[in-house]
Amino acid sequence: MKFGTKALHAGIEPDPSTGAIMTPIFQTSTYVQDSPGVHKGYEYARTQNPTRSVLEKNLAALENAKFGRCFASGMSATETVIKTLRPGDEVISTGDLYGGSFRLFTQIFEQFGIKFTFVDMRNPRKVEEIITDKTKLLWVETPTNPMLNIIDIEAISAIGHKHGVKVAVDNTFASPYLQNPLDQGADIVMHSVTKYIAGHSDVIMGFLGTSDPAIDEQFGFIQNSSGAIPGPQDCFLVLRGIKTLHLRMQRHCENGEKIAHFLKNHPAVKSVFWPGFEDHPNHAIAKKQMRGFGGMISFTPKEDTIEKTEETLNKFKLFSLAESLGGVESLVGYPAGMTHASIPKEKRIVGGLTDSLIRLSVGIEDIDDLIADLDQAIK
Ligand code: PLP
Repeated sequence: MKFGTKALHAGIEPDPSTGAIMTPIFQTSTYVQDSPGVHKGYEYARTQNPTRSVLEKNLAALENAKFGRCFASGMSATETVIKTLRPGDEVISTGDLYGGSFRLFTQIFEQFGIKFTFVDMRNPRKVEEIITDKTKLLWVETPTNPMLNIIDIEAISAIGHKHGVKVAVDNTFASPYLQNPLDQGADIVMHSVTKYIAGHSDVIMGFLGTSDPAIDEQFGFIQNSSGAIPGPQDCFLVLRGIKTLHLRMQRHCENGEKIAHFLKNHPAVKSVFWPGFEDHPNHAIAKKQMRGFGGMISFTPKEDTIEKTEETLNKFKLFSLAESLGGVESLVGYPAGMTHASIPKEKRIVGGLTDSLIRLSVGIEDIDDLIADLDQAIK
């Protein structure tokens, strides 16, 4: 099955008791047993819920994973991966990643004795240089948030596997429509489902996919033991959102491309970060591992000051000033003060995340209206 067909049908059957074409919302905390231990495969809703199971199967299919698990948020999915490690283990990640992941790694898990090292993963040799026998995980994010750098998943996976180290990829910015990390050799794919997958800015959720049964078993154990599961209503909303994921992504990509070029040619803009540009330093890798370049774009105004950036942000009318991304409506964000405020300034600046950087999540509105809004805001 191709992507659009899988989005609508993979793992989804009409409800056997009624024939309902839409997966029902099984709003229940427990299931009645015929006699002790004799049940229909469902005992308690932290462990299993039929609405969740359908979503997990569907998302696994979209990521070409054998197994999938949903979590209460992207962060709880990420946390589950790190909870498979032990004190003394080491993780290597990229210097430019979502601020919340950096905070989780350095402010929560370092206190339990797990060590995190951050390098520029665009250069896979740098990763290999710092792998030790304690390294257990390479945490990749590509495209990165918010600099839109691209990391070569195949090259990083080859290095990881050469040293017996697992590789996880945060695929949130690409969505499964544009990139499937497991096909490039990664062991684990993670999503903030909140973003493109749910797509309508009304749900917080996370996902982990893998084709390794031992890894999935660990995820299942932690999912059940820690209990960071999504509710059935949210699973229903995400299943509904996924039915148009391929159509939405096509429009995000089309609008993204037009806006990226508009900004690049605009006299009031200094630099634009978007992996679809032929002169983007990692364009060749983006072309190799992605099926399109998405609707996430960062840029800095020519007048590179905080004041100018604040003035620009206040002028947007159609783009809403808000955290998050990947919804149908366009958002504008200020990473230094919003999504990435938890990363110390000296670390942010090394990766190019200056105080004047503006991030756009280009929605699926009419492109002429989006361009007109951008133009009046940055002029
Ligand atoms: N990973 C990336 C790349 C993100 O942008 C985000 C949220 O912005 C997350 C993970 C965390 O996801 P959630 O907000 O669903 O917990």
